[in-house]
Amino acid sequence: MPTYTFEKVELYGEKRVKCTVCGKAMKRRTTVYQTLNPFNKTDDGKVKSRSQILAELRVKLDAWRGQAETHAKCEGDAS
Ligand SMILES: [Zn+2]
Repeated sequence: MPTYTFEKVELYGEKRVKCTVCGKAMKRRTTVYQTLNPFNKTDDGKVKSRSQILAELRVKLDAWRGQAETHAKCEGDAS
């Protein structure tokens, strides 16, 4: 039985933001990825290329960088 492994296209992001509750600087990191596979298609039905995936991942990372963050413990205090 052959096993198919799809190539993972991955981007790593890091940011320093201030917690929305306590105002202390915090570091967050994330990894976004998609796999190159026959089912990962664009809206017009074409299989996404590596560069298309990378472009989408960059957009996702940018959105993530713009997001406000709160420490888990601060979120609890806020309620
Ligand atoms: Zn905090």
